[in-house]
Amino acid sequence: MPYKILIKDIRYLLTMTDKPLDHSSGSSILVEGKQIAGIYPAGSDLPQAEHVIDASHHLVMPGLVNCHHHFYQTLTRNLPAAANAKLFDWLAYLYDFWAAMTLEELHDASAIAAAELLLSGCTTALDHFYVFPNGDNSYFDAEVEGVRPTGLRLHLTRGSMSLSRKDGGLPPDSLVQSDREILNHTSDVVSRYHEPEDFGMLRVIPAPCSPFSVTETILRESAQLAAEKQLNLHTHLAETEDEERFCLEKFHVRPVEYMERVGWLTENTIFAHSVWVNAAEIQRYADCGCGIAYCPTSNMRLGSGIAPIVDMLTAGIKVGLGVDGSASNDSSHMIQEMRQALLLQRVKYGASAMSVRDVLRMATVGGARVLGREDIGLLKPGYAADIIGIDLDEIWYAGAQADPPGALVLCHTDRVDFSMVNGEVVVEHGRLARIDLDELIHKHNENAANLYNRVNNST
Ligand code: ZN
Repeated sequence: MPYKILIKDIRYLLTMTDKPLDHSSGSSILVEGKQIAGIYPAGSDLPQAEHVIDASHHLVMPGLVNCHHHFYQTLTRNLPAAANAKLFDWLAYLYDFWAAMTLEELHDASAIAAAELLLSGCTTALDHFYVFPNGDNSYFDAEVEGVRPTGLRLHLTRGSMSLSRKDGGLPPDSLVQSDREILNHTSDVVSRYHEPEDFGMLRVIPAPCSPFSVTETILRESAQLAAEKQLNLHTHLAETEDEERFCLEKFHVRPVEYMERVGWLTENTIFAHSVWVNAAEIQRYADCGCGIAYCPTSNMRLGSGIAPIVDMLTAGIKVGLGVDGSASNDSSHMIQEMRQALLLQRVKYGASAMSVRDVLRMATVGGARVLGREDIGLLKPGYAADIIGIDLDEIWYAGAQADPPGALVLCHTDRVDFSMVNGEVVVEHGRLARIDLDELIHKHNENAANLYNRVNNST
């Protein structure tokens, strides 16, 4: 018999299903094994369970889905020399640090990012990993090993860079690999790790870093591999005006047209950012069915611009949220990202252009659809038990009880009180249930300081 958990007497249940979107207080959820077995209105006879969670103080909702991140960058957040730089200058400075990162440093950095995501309500994340110092493919395995013990559901990219400075790209020679090496290793990790079935905890995505760091061959062949093995495809696109200029000079087309030329306008593709897209390009996105990862904090931090997300949603494009790498956000906080997403769109379009429910949808079922998943993002029988609970009696929501989902997005939120992924409790009473976070933070701080000193002493 599968293990049963009853989340009981929920003060406010937000299922994110269309009808009804919100349930009245007193509902309960039964979790059996990995999935949601039933949702019971107040006053129902409740089934027995091995474990009961009292949710009488809580907003309970689906776990949040983060569609774009770079976990390794938790090693290089808030470096003063890159604090005021735009993307290309920021990258040029940071590549040297990333090239010097050890396997153990990546392992711990990945656990740190996963921990911060879990505490801030995220239960599934896409991590765009693309740096393989000195061509060492075992960095991919180090990240898997770093994240697994935390209990976060992971879509890990086998990212790549194949166009170095000597070939007109941006990254240093020690961070690029040959097209053949990249494709062989991508196939290898797909066969070793990819779990396409419902409730799969680890999926693999081919993900060349960006148009300015890979060859046309790798883009074309990655798209072929993804089509063959039914995988998502991921890259950064149209993030900055500099990128647009780069594509016009080098390829004589704008970024979206370049991606169309190399076979990337497909329904399995996820583009991060897409700040610099015009109305015709938005229509091309809508026609092909691709998904977008909107990363508002990163776009503000690097001064990249405001993505036209309201126009994309109006055009029917799938949109999810991404915190982006911690070096261009300095945080991996998913709830904070929802707030930034809402506020930044209002700067561009006005106060009524995006509602709290719109942004909650992006951060849950919207992100799930971007990742091609039909088993997460909603609270519904048969869906994975990826469930978070936020304590509504915290100081942050005092006086804001009229609409708890609005309080979550518009007020400050520190952390969730409980969280489960596939029915496994990963956060309990605001603390990670499966790893020793204090020890991890201590080690990661040492790692980051060591890395910083190594690179500064060698230059
Ligand atoms: Zn990114």
